[in-house]
Amino acid sequence: MKTWDKKKILEIDRNHIWHPYTQMKDYENRDPMVIVSARGLKLKTIDGQEIYDSISSWWTNVHGHLHPALNQAIIEQLNLLDHINFSGYTHPYAVEVVERLKDFLPPELSRFFFSDNGSTAVEVALKMAFQFWQNKGQKEKTRFVCLENAYHGDTLGAVSVGGVDLFFELYKPLLFKSFKAPSPYCYRCPEKEGFTLDASHQCSLKCLKGMEEILKEHHGEICAVIVEPLMQGAGGILIYPAAYLKKLREITRRYKVFLIFDEVATGFGRTGTMFAFEQAEVVPDIICLAKGLTGGYLPMALTITTEEIYQAFYADYLEGKTFYHGHTYTANPICCAVAAANLKLFAEENPLVKTREAREYFHQLLLKTFADKPYVGDIRYLGYVGAIELVKDKQTKEPFPEELRVSFQIYMKSLEKGVVLRPLGDVIYWFLPLCVTKYEVEEILNLSVEAIEEVL
Ligand code: PLP
Repeated sequence: MKTWDKKKILEIDRNHIWHPYTQMKDYENRDPMVIVSARGLKLKTIDGQEIYDSISSWWTNVHGHLHPALNQAIIEQLNLLDHINFSGYTHPYAVEVVERLKDFLPPELSRFFFSDNGSTAVEVALKMAFQFWQNKGQKEKTRFVCLENAYHGDTLGAVSVGGVDLFFELYKPLLFKSFKAPSPYCYRCPEKEGFTLDASHQCSLKCLKGMEEILKEHHGEICAVIVEPLMQGAGGILIYPAAYLKKLREITRRYKVFLIFDEVATGFGRTGTMFAFEQAEVVPDIICLAKGLTGGYLPMALTITTEEIYQAFYADYLEGKTFYHGHTYTANPICCAVAAANLKLFAEENPLVKTREAREYFHQLLLKTFADKPYVGDIRYLGYVGAIELVKDKQTKEPFPEELRVSFQIYMKSLEKGVVLRPLGDVIYWFLPLCVTKYEVEEILNLSVEAIEEVL
């Protein structure tokens, strides 16, 4: 049995490691949790405490931690091929990923470009859309449209099409300018349309008007629109109707601009279908995948596009239409092996059907638990994702004062209780893996309420 020196780990961490999306001073007088192992839905700390991984390790884990089939795939791969550059070579492991993934995609999405993570998948999509028009001689089509509250990653291209001011405002001088259309933030809809999840009230999508006006006026200089389909994740788990995407597809076709769906967070079953866009019955021109692609094990991403886009780059070398983009670990065989095993599990075990009841129970329990709570302004859910928006005043929707740091305190308390309520602003959310059971749903929500109510 492996043992660790907790004191030494914390000392080296404190003195040398800079953690992502973390104000390090918050840990001046507290230690970060040291996780040493995991299985299924549970993480285990160095002190032996078990914690529900209720945000699927930053939205990646799909079938639970240390799934035997995924472990085995990596072990077998280690006896074959560790890494090879993917320029001018191919290997059966990447081919198997594509072959398996094709079964879950519409035939129009037929060209696959590998990279490393969600941000790179988005960078590739942006550059592809941009270069398509350059290669076609329409040099003036250089701009993108994105949404307020959008999150597409932290590299500068992805930040340029991002809309979460808290994260991105500072970097503005480094970014290219994109058009920002209104966010489909239904709870705070300025038109007070009140879209409801059970579809008992369908809105007339007035929030799309801003998008339509931008496209009408500027389509000559726009190469693509990028959105997170059905749910703006890091912007606050803002869930919006499929009808929005249907209409968006129609408008983008009308104005001849590409439509990019960033399925980095929504892909691989998280919204209750393999991909969120299936629920809108539309096909985008490009999709970006990462996170759940390897079942949450290893970093790998795909940007998948159409024959039309691919063919605009396919030319004699001297025509200068080559796509000059690539990353050292493109299509790493070990990542491919676990991605193929992940897709095999989807094909053979159909987790979306297996845990449908748990998923529905999760929705019911969210409503039952939080509907009458005075501190909950909105309850949102879709598939395995659920969220509550905390408010000081339910009637006026006034948030808690920022200086109270209510959601951060809830996060700290939740870790003590054995669940991870890492907030997004005033939003507390659950991003469950597809293997969750009804029992686990119940435990997770009970621990969550305890944590929240000890703070509020
Ligand atoms: N796109 C979306 C919708 C995301 O939610 C994220 C990450 O949360 C990204 C892109 C960036 O992915 P990564 O963190 O792997 O770069």
